[in-house]
Amino acid sequence: MSVRTRFAPSPTGFFHIGSARTALFNWLYARHTGGTFILRIEDTDKERNTEEALKVLVDGMQWLGMDWDEGPGKEGPCGPYFQSQRTELYRAQLKVLADKGRAYEKDGAWWFRLEGERHTEFDDFAKKDIEKVKAAPVVIQDLVRGRVERAEDRDFVIFRANGEPVFHFVNVIDDITMGITHVIRGEDHLSNTSKHVELFRAFGATLPTYAHIPLILKSDGPGKMSKRDRGALIEEYQQRGFLPEAVRNYLCLLGWTPKDGREVLPIADIISQFELGDIHQANARFDERKMSFVNQQTIREMPASQFAALARPRLAAAGITAGPSELDPVLALVQEKVAGLEHLTEFVAFFFREDFTKDPAALANLTKKGGDPMARISEVLPHLVTATWDDAGIDAAFAAAGTEYTQKPTAYFAPIRYAVSGHGGGPHLQAVLRTLGKEKVLARLRAFTA
Ligand code: GLU
Repeated sequence: MSVRTRFAPSPTGFFHIGSARTALFNWLYARHTGGTFILRIEDTDKERNTEEALKVLVDGMQWLGMDWDEGPGKEGPCGPYFQSQRTELYRAQLKVLADKGRAYEKDGAWWFRLEGERHTEFDDFAKKDIEKVKAAPVVIQDLVRGRVERAEDRDFVIFRANGEPVFHFVNVIDDITMGITHVIRGEDHLSNTSKHVELFRAFGATLPTYAHIPLILKSDGPGKMSKRDRGALIEEYQQRGFLPEAVRNYLCLLGWTPKDGREVLPIADIISQFELGDIHQANARFDERKMSFVNQQTIREMPASQFAALARPRLAAAGITAGPSELDPVLALVQEKVAGLEHLTEFVAFFFREDFTKDPAALANLTKKGGDPMARISEVLPHLVTATWDDAGIDAAFAAAGTEYTQKPTAYFAPIRYAVSGHGGGPHLQAVLRTLGKEKVLARLRAFTA
């Protein structure tokens, strides 16, 4: 039987990290098995589920390269893929249950009837008498959580008095009618699963395999990450110029570890290794620094031509329009070092402009413990004036100044870097000086000591 997975979001106007990770695990498993990945829109909340909210979701999915085989814009045999367009089906299925004696009307709402011995009990929480049902416990063999046992003990509403169907009901009908074989979703839904299993059974449908994936905790503290937490939304990374493949790679690591021990790896390798049984039970913790690290590694490992193609429009938008002969050597130098595309302009501006920004923290570091950057530069400047402009020549100038003034040659590195770039760190200094050119370097050093 061919695998069919689905991502079933309710569009709220946000594409949360947790939702993206759920979508990703469904997509990965479908691709791993050569199955079908369905995007189903659970848009029964008319107030929140607007066109714009859907667009945020679709844009985010496309940006992350999670293509769906059936869903919005990709009609398939089980459509429509919007719950708001499936009301007829839900009404018809309600009738099926009612005809089987498994649904009944009370106080305007439709209820699902559990099978089992009935009795009335005083409910402390609701502060009233409630009809309780002694139903056989539902056993779920969850691929992540293992064996989970849970019993429902009272009938539950499936169609509200206002005529709107309830989540549990539509979710199950859609999973049945869309032929979903694997339900992969957040652990917060585990407690709903006994209701869902009861509904599957009442319809006489085959149960899907369940995999409830761990929660994502916020980077600090015990709580679950919410949309208000810093870094919680996919749009943010999109806007900041993170690489979609890096964000996707990082999301894979939230609750799963590649068997081969690599953390940064091509999606094809992730797809071939991805098994639901390997998903961790323990909650995952969001770590923005790690996401930045994966992003940086991804930049490092991409071909120079791809990096240049990403860099050029960003730099052009910031007014840096140098041609390839000037730009390419700079890009070659920074590809290994830049923390992310969002930092690129600031990182390279000094190569192209005289009015580059100077980092006050870098200057403070230079003068800490009595360091005197002006003195160091005055010492080394005459040696650089006569230096041959290659790595060896530049090193020789540092060594000569060091001998003359009893300094370590490295004492000149940070003051020079700051004077020519305004930064406290960056690519290999000699390479920066070479690429910048002798003329610009000397002019900036002179200006610094003037
Ligand atoms: N619309 C539900 C959600 O966003 C779907 C739950 C499920 O995957 O079954 O949480």
